[in-house]
Amino acid sequence: MLKLEHLSKVYRGGKKAVDDLNLDIKKGEFIVFIGTSGSGKTTALRMINRMIEPTSGKILINDEDVTKKNPVTLRRSIGYVIQQIGLMPHMTIRDNITLVPRLLKWEKDKKNKTAEDLLKLVNLPESYLDMFPSQLSGGQQQRIGVLRALAANQDLILMDEPFGALDPITRDTLQDLMKDLQQRLGKTVVFVTHDMDEALKLADRICIMHDGQVIQCDTPDNILSNPANQFVKEFIGSHRLVQEKPSAKLVDEVMITPVTISLEKSLDEAIRTMVQKRVDTLFVVDGQNILKGFIDVESITSERHRTQSVADAMDKDVFYVKNETKLQDTVRRILKRNLKNIPVVDADHKLVGLITRAHIVDMVYDTIWGDEDIEEQSTI
Ligand code: ADP
Ligand code: MG
Repeated sequence: MLKLEHLSKVYRGGKKAVDDLNLDIKKGEFIVFIGTSGSGKTTALRMINRMIEPTSGKILINDEDVTKKNPVTLRRSIGYVIQQIGLMPHMTIRDNITLVPRLLKWEKDKKNKTAEDLLKLVNLPESYLDMFPSQLSGGQQQRIGVLRALAANQDLILMDEPFGALDPITRDTLQDLMKDLQQRLGKTVVFVTHDMDEALKLADRICIMHDGQVIQCDTPDNILSNPANQFVKEFIGSHRLVQEKPSAKLVDEVMITPVTISLEKSLDEAIRTMVQKRVDTLFVVDGQNILKGFIDVESITSERHRTQSVADAMDKDVFYVKNETKLQDTVRRILKRNLKNIPVVDADHKLVGLITRAHIVDMVYDTIWGDEDIEEQSTI
């Protein structure tokens, strides 16, 4: 859907910020530009929506040359997000989400419907629409910020280090949310970062830039296993390079069945289930088996009324992975966040499994012993 052909930018004064950039981006692709400061990432991004005019080369969106389009119309048809700016405190959540649609003069019904639909996607209740940012938790406010970037329903979204200023945990959560929404809504995203972990996590393809040129543009796996040159190797960092065959196992292949409890049960029943099943965490699901939260034995304090419902007592900020996630990535997250375990959900957010810390042991074992059986067979 987006083609960059021999794209270059020479600034007044002679600085060649982007040098013969060629790239063919498919619809629904998540492309990440990464490089050191001054490598030309922002310049490349801003040429796409003509905030910066190219010195030479062409940009085609759906085979149409963007220089032939009216720059204002063009810019409105492309989402552009710079550092995640906070929500407007005096505006309701609804108005915050629909900030851009309002600038685009959408009709009220369409704006409202968009706000409602987006809120559903992040599992927040509709009643939040009329609340103000200060009534939401910090994490919830950040999620609304991500929704705002998607609200104008543009097919192509440009993001320039949107999560750069956030603490690691918040960044991790918003990366997950962004990736999930991008996939579900089929958006094409061009994302700029200087954080390799962020690039590896989000990208379908990573384009590594240096001095205005793209040094390598490939899938995260290919870049890790076949870095184009010494520069890329150093940029990735030796700790990330794939030395051995990567464990390509997906979580579905190894996950276990989690112990669940439904929303309407009492805390007393939850405790009984924990004792009976010998677990310290219960995952809370609704009638459709959709993951709603979790209950941890440590959070059940004596002050709590045991008659309280699970729905009231549970922790709603549950961290999860999708069923097609790689085991390797999942284990990395468990370690990074110091989690005891992590539930696995399908595309409909239904709970389908659980990865525990014990899986880490399996994975280490797997990496050391690899596909021993297969190799034996192949020598026969
Ligand atoms: P990045 O986003 O990768 O840090 P930029 O695209 O912002 O890089 O900048 C690329 C190069 O172009 C840098 O050397 C920068 O100093 C230079 N540059 C950026 N904007 C201008 C400008 N308006 N005028 C002159 N030089 C610029
Ligand atoms: Mg920049």
